[in-house]
Amino acid sequence: MSIYQNYQDIISQLPENVKLVTVSKTNPVEKIREVYDLGQRAFGENKVQELLEKESVLPNDIEWHLIGHLQTNKVKYIAGFVAIIESIDSEKLLKEVNKEALKNNRKINILLQVKIAKEDTKFGLTVDEAKDIFNNYLNGNYPNIEIKGLMGMASFVDDEIQIREEFSILKNLFDELSELKPLETLSMGMSGDFPLAIKCGSNSVRVGSAIFGERNY
Ligand SMILES: *Cc1c(COP(=O)(O)O)cnc(C)c1O
Repeated sequence: MSIYQNYQDIISQLPENVKLVTVSKTNPVEKIREVYDLGQRAFGENKVQELLEKESVLPNDIEWHLIGHLQTNKVKYIAGFVAIIESIDSEKLLKEVNKEALKNNRKINILLQVKIAKEDTKFGLTVDEAKDIFNNYLNGNYPNIEIKGLMGMASFVDDEIQIREEFSILKNLFDELSELKPLETLSMGMSGDFPLAIKCGSNSVRVGSAIFGERNY
């Protein structure tokens, strides 16, 4: 299938309240432009260097989402333009983002990435760490940060019950924190599991290979 057909196919499966973030990592700028020309504006990248190269040549109205593990020493390179950092996985990183946001005289939108998968290969906060950080945020510790919501990745398994359980952990936390301060974004679901993620309450999906084709790595 072509990128055009893949894109239409994904869009047709998304309810109106669910946002699509097109994950363009490893794909060349020509392919990104193809999706951009179809009207897509939100793109996700997981590496700072690759994001900088693409950002410098692609249109300015692209909304760039950082979705991969971010080292504190690289925050400064993206702080001026990034639309949202979905992968805040430590309080140390959040402090650094707040600092760089202040230097850039802006607020930076972020999601707290929570580790919901049983596999121990993924980055992310525990539920308790996320609650602590959220409380510190509510107490005014991060004036240049806007916490928009939560992000999580389920295990790469076929067991639908397990995936559902993992997504539910994040949805429950989202509801709990939203009572303290309303949150907007619950980012869960990728090419393989986004329909299930939406059933579990996701309102933002990050889809790469189902649009661009399989990555070769
Ligand atoms: C690569 C990636 C995706 C997209 O994965 P696909 O399976 O290609 O849709 C989503 N989220 C994160 C955090 C990723 O690193």
